[in-house]
Parts: sequence; structure tokens; C-alpha cells
Amino acid sequence: MDQKPQPLPPPHVLIFPLPLQGPVNSMFKLAELLCLSGLHITFLVTEHINARLLSYSNIQSRFSNYPGFQLKTIPDGLPEDHPRSGDKYMELFDSLKSKSKPFFKEMLTSCSPCDETRRPVKFIIADGYLGFTCDVANEIGIPIVYVRTISACCLWIFFCLPKLIEAGELPFVGDDLDTLIKSVPGTESFLRRRDLPGFCRSCDLNDENMRLYSKEGEENSRAHGLILNTFEELEGPILTHIRSVCPNIYTIGPLHAHLKTKLSKQTTSLAASSSSLWKEDRNCMTWLDSQPSKSVIYVSFGSIAKLTKIQLMELWHGLVNSCARFLWVVRPDSVVGKDWESQVPEEVKEGTRVRGYIVGWAPQEEVLAHSAVGGFLTHNGWNSTLESIYEGVPMISWPYFLDQQVNGRFMSEVWKLGLDMKDSCDRNIVEKMVRDLMEVRKEEFSKRAEDMAQWAGTCLSEGGSSYCNLERLVRDIESMTKE
Ligand code: UDP
Repeated sequence: MDQKPQPLPPPHVLIFPLPLQGPVNSMFKLAELLCLSGLHITFLVTEHINARLLSYSNIQSRFSNYPGFQLKTIPDGLPEDHPRSGDKYMELFDSLKSKSKPFFKEMLTSCSPCDETRRPVKFIIADGYLGFTCDVANEIGIPIVYVRTISACCLWIFFCLPKLIEAGELPFVGDDLDTLIKSVPGTESFLRRRDLPGFCRSCDLNDENMRLYSKEGEENSRAHGLILNTFEELEGPILTHIRSVCPNIYTIGPLHAHLKTKLSKQTTSLAASSSSLWKEDRNCMTWLDSQPSKSVIYVSFGSIAKLTKIQLMELWHGLVNSCARFLWVVRPDSVVGKDWESQVPEEVKEGTRVRGYIVGWAPQEEVLAHSAVGGFLTHNGWNSTLESIYEGVPMISWPYFLDQQVNGRFMSEVWKLGLDMKDSCDRNIVEKMVRDLMEVRKEEFSKRAEDMAQWAGTCLSEGGSSYCNLERLVRDIESMTKE
């Protein structure tokens, strides 16, 4: 009797994010979206990240719902006692580049051959910073698509760095940071020197950041395509410029909301997913429940930024003096120096007891979605920016580094979603900005933020730009992995 051939299992994709909180968060959302589309996923993290996920996230139980998903680990090559803090990210990138490549190749080539339940990995989605993944993909003949978890507006500036150098705009001549930049097409009327990524202020063109980021245009066009966590309605004009260098772009963001939207259509409901690398303090949600609507400013500078004691005190005085209610994330490792707690003046402690709440790490997506939150004092990390945009929360930008300086300018000047406090951290300015956002210009910013949130929602619904681009990505993966 003739046996009917068994249908092949679905395509198997390997996802490899940068080992930092922001990229890990957004790539887990992408992994879950692809699982929902029926693909098999191997999610690769460093051993260090895996240990933190096991301690603080619910990734294991979350993904047990998807039999096609597996988590694998790779060494990052750093010594055990290395702090691996975000401010040492260059050491991390260098180590990954020089030490992890052989493990990565071995993992892909030693995979068990196709069995009845799982095919070998035939497609790679890796962070564009991990250029060695493209070398390996080319060596073994597997298609690769890069993913970038920064904003398109910053990526475009990276692409233009060689032009800025050629035009003599970099390094800066003189010290006026308000001079307009002319060599980044599409931004000539508003982008100042101070809005470029912070490393551009260095006079040294051999600076390690400058060397890394000025190769971005070349590097990104090596892959079959580029997945961006953004949406057309937000960054359309800039995306047109990026497409002149990398034509095949999949804008499928905001990823966290894309996943939420897809899951809301499922019959079974899942608990909120967390890929936190720190322990979340959920008591702040109860505190928020007892605050009036839109009365709280949420303050967080993400997973990498560090504050000096002076900056901490200026921010703290400013927040208390503004008389706004505030929920503030002060990560245990975020303040440089130790004994700051004993140096807080009594009136600041009292103002905090009455109107404030401080946590070490918050369930941020849920916080931003809470009706008591009316503003966000943020470093404008790209995930935080998108999370705020999706929930319609206006922002004050106090960027720390890299894309955040650019994002703050676009957020305030182009998207008109709030104020940019860049380069100042003075209690009087903090107080004024908080009052402006939460009281004086509240209506103006809220209206604008609500409109933008609506556009974000539209791009995720059936027929919307991010919805269609995700479908195209899945179709392209299927066609590029056909046996
Ligand atoms: N985040 C969080 N709790 C916090 C602070 C941040 O869950 O208390 C999450 C936040 O929702 C975001 C990520 O950490 O998804 C930070 O990423 P982002 O790109 O904004 O900044 P980075 O940490 O890379 O500087």
C-alpha cells in the first residue's frame, strides 16, 4: 500500500538578539508573533541573559504554549565576574564578535537533521550589530535578515555619518551645539549638533563608536532585508531615505503592541508576558490604582543609563517641587556612588512620601497603560518611546546616549509629543518642564499623543502597514526556506 508523504514541519527560524534588556524585550515579542504565524523558533541568548531570565521573567511558562519554540544559549566570551552592565556594551560587542562566532557556527552546522517534528534552522534573524552572524549565514548558505531595535531616524543618521565627515560637519568646528546639521537629508530644518548621538561630540574620528556606527550603511545592506520596530505613519519620510540604501524593509512595530493586538483575537487568554532582567515591583500598580486619572508622571531611564548623585538630586528636587505625583524607577545599579540615600534632605523625603513612589524596576508596559499615568519623563530609549506612543502618554526627554539624543528631538520637534530637556539637569528646569507637561500644556500634548496612539493602533489592525509587513515577512521566510 502507498504511504502518503507526511507534510514537512514549518520553517525553522533562529532569532539572535543583542544581550541587552531593550533588544531582548522586543525580540521576544517578534518570536511570539512568528510562533503565532506557525513558524518554529530557536531563540538564542547568552548564558548570562538566560540566568537573569530564569530568575526574573516568565518566559519559560509563557513559551510552553508554543511547542515550536526553544530557547538555546551561547557563551558571550566574557569572564564570569564581568559586570556586563549596559555602559560596558562595547566590551560586550567586541567579545561577542571575537569569541562567540565559532559557537554560533557550530550550533547551526551541528543541528540534528530534519526529523518529523522540527526542520533544521534555515533562516536567521539577528541584530544588525552582530555582523558575524551574516558572515556565518553566508558561509553556510542560510538567508539572514537583520533586525534593528533602534529608531529609523537614528539609523538614518548612522547611514549618513560618512557624509557628515566628508562635508566637514564632523568633527564639530567650534563649540556651538545649536548649529544646524545639513548633511542628513530630511532633517535639515531641525536637527542640531546636540541632537546627534552623543559620541559625535568627540573630536576623534577614530573613536570606537564612530568607527562602528559609520559602517552601518554598508553592514545593513549585506542582509536580505531589515526588520524595524517602527511604523510607517511615524517614521515614513525617514524610511523613504533608508530604502534608498536597504530596499527590503519590514516595518512591523510597535512590536509589543503588535503582539498584544494579535493575542486579543485569540480565544485563550495568556497572562502578561515579562522578559525582565530585574525583579519587577508590582506594588506600584496598587499605588497607581489609588491616584487620580492622568495625575502621575512616570520617571524611568531604562536599563542602561547611569546617574551621578548630583543629577539624581536635581531630578528629585525638581520632581518634588513640581507638586506632581510621580512614580520613579531607580534601578539598584543606576546611581554612581553608594551613600546617596543618607544624603536626601528631609523636605524631599516628605514630598516623596506624600506624592511619590520609588521602585527598583516596574512592569513598564502596564504602568504606561494605567489610567493614572499622564506623562513620562524618559531617556527616550526606543522601546520606552514606542511604549509611550502606543499608550498615548506625552513625554519629557532626558536622553542618555546613542539614539536617545535623536529620538528626543524627533519626539518633541517632529512628532510634537512633549518636551526635550536634553543637556540640562537643573531642578528649576525639571520643575518647569513637569509643570508644563502635566498642567500648562497638558491638553495640547495629550491631544497630539492620543492622535499618534490612534495611528499606531491603525497600523496594527487588519490591512494596516505593520500588519501587512509582518504577513509579507512570514511569506518571504516560507518562500526562502522552501526545500
Ligand atoms: N523597562 C521595564 N521596567 C522598568 C524600566 C524599563 O520593564 O522599570 C523596560 C521597558 O518597558 C523597555 C525596556 O525595559 O521595554 C527598556 O528599553 P529601552 O529601549 O527603552 O531602553 P534601554 O534600556 O535599552 O536604554
